[in-house]
Amino acid sequence: MNTRTDRVVIVGAGLAGVGVARGLRQSGHTGPITLLGDEAHPPYDRPPLSKQYLLDGDEAALRLSPEPLPDVALLTGCAVTSVDVAGRTVRRQDGSVLDWDRLVFATGTRPRQLETLAASHRVTPLRTLDDARRIRQHLRPGARLLVIGGGPIGLELAATAQQLGTHATVVEAAERLMGRSAPALIAKHLLRHHRAQGVNVHLGRSVVSVDDGGLVTLDDGHTEHADLVVVGIGVVANDTLAIAAGIATEDGILVDGHGRTNAPGVYAAGDVTRHRHPLSGRIERIETWANAQGQAAAVAAAMVDPDGAPPYGDTPWYWSDQGSLRLQCAGLVQGDTQALRGDPDSGSFVLLQWQADRLCGVAAVNAVRDFNPLRRLIAVGCTLTPEQLTAPGVNLKQIAQSTHPA
Ligand code: FAD
Ligand code: NDP
Repeated sequence: MNTRTDRVVIVGAGLAGVGVARGLRQSGHTGPITLLGDEAHPPYDRPPLSKQYLLDGDEAALRLSPEPLPDVALLTGCAVTSVDVAGRTVRRQDGSVLDWDRLVFATGTRPRQLETLAASHRVTPLRTLDDARRIRQHLRPGARLLVIGGGPIGLELAATAQQLGTHATVVEAAERLMGRSAPALIAKHLLRHHRAQGVNVHLGRSVVSVDDGGLVTLDDGHTEHADLVVVGIGVVANDTLAIAAGIATEDGILVDGHGRTNAPGVYAAGDVTRHRHPLSGRIERIETWANAQGQAAAVAAAMVDPDGAPPYGDTPWYWSDQGSLRLQCAGLVQGDTQALRGDPDSGSFVLLQWQADRLCGVAAVNAVRDFNPLRRLIAVGCTLTPEQLTAPGVNLKQIAQSTHPA
């Protein structure tokens, strides 16, 4: 096999799929690349779908690759229905078959559904441009939106709705917001922020029914009216093709630091993968934009230069814009020691966390300048103390520049 000239097929034309295609060309791959996406649209970016796109409706701004990808055969509206690892082929929905020498799964995730509500015409998930188009039509002054799930999808959407004059309600099953992705102190701050903006938040509650007229009933009997109900209760991996092909999965395709699955010549990148978290050491699915982008680039480099490319091990991070509040988190959600930099009451602060004396997690609220240096300090295994990193006037940028891997 010549790693520069062989035929590569990529299944899934989202951020990771596009990233692998682009990365292969940038790394010097000259063989044919085919990128297959099941959505009808050219590849687009998802983060604006819960924020800016709902405000301005600018679809051109969503394009992941405004210029055509260099020498990549992009086929949209083209679902892959099966993969034959031994025969090295994929079959498409129209029955046609495509040969490959190496295959990449970049199939992402899909929203978890609430089966009891799935049939209602008032209920939708938010994952695709088509979902966002539909939601956007409902975000009018005076309209009412109810979101199930107080994670990033629910909170970003509720904040955007309020900005557009639509009254938003969030129903979260847990006793706190953002249980999967933010520390408890940040969750309390978010709760205050959203309530202050007029969002109606129910914690510890679930929705039991939505009738045709839009009457929503919660498990405590409370009722609300909603023109539209959006379900944002997490995602599951699109790994059924891989499972059927005999590839090792665990709600996500298991890959190593080079994106290799257990099948020779078969790789995976992005939300669909499960791989070692560089800080926790656990095998996790990391569902963030930065992971899809960084891992895709690393997988492409490893496909071209299997012996020379470094394994992927970036510190996980994400941002979440919730109205006027920008949350940026890196590293672990939970540490054994915490310290604050800045005052939450000022609206701009950072929560830092340590584990075994190493900085392991950062959550910055409207503190954009502090975030990148602190993210870098996590990556290099910084052992500076809470006092050293939170003292007033300390120059984090300078510290980050002069601190080298432990
Ligand atoms: P996806 O974007 O899911 O792309 C996978 C593609 O593969 C999809 O188009 C899918 O339809 C296609 N596909 C699946 N199966 C097949 C098949 N059999 N044949 C062909 N094609 C197939 N992250 C952040 O860090 N910050 C944010 O602010 C943020 N905001 C977000 C807002 C929204 C509304 C959403 C939905 C996500 C947001 N994310 C955010 C998460 C981020 O967008 C994802 O982590 C990222 O899109 C993952 O990229 P991916 O390419 O791995 O998967
Ligand atoms: P999350 O898993 O982050 O959050 C879902 C929330 O819904 C959790 O708090 C969960 O609580 C709660 N929940 C689960 N079941 C119910 C229920 N029956 N009733 C009420 N609440 C419930 O997923 P999201 O849907 O918010 O996001 C989906 C995907 O999009 C993820 O991959 C996410 O990373 C990505 N995304 C990222 C953004 C960002 O990083 N800024 C922005 C938007 C999306 P519990 O934890 O108790 O189950």
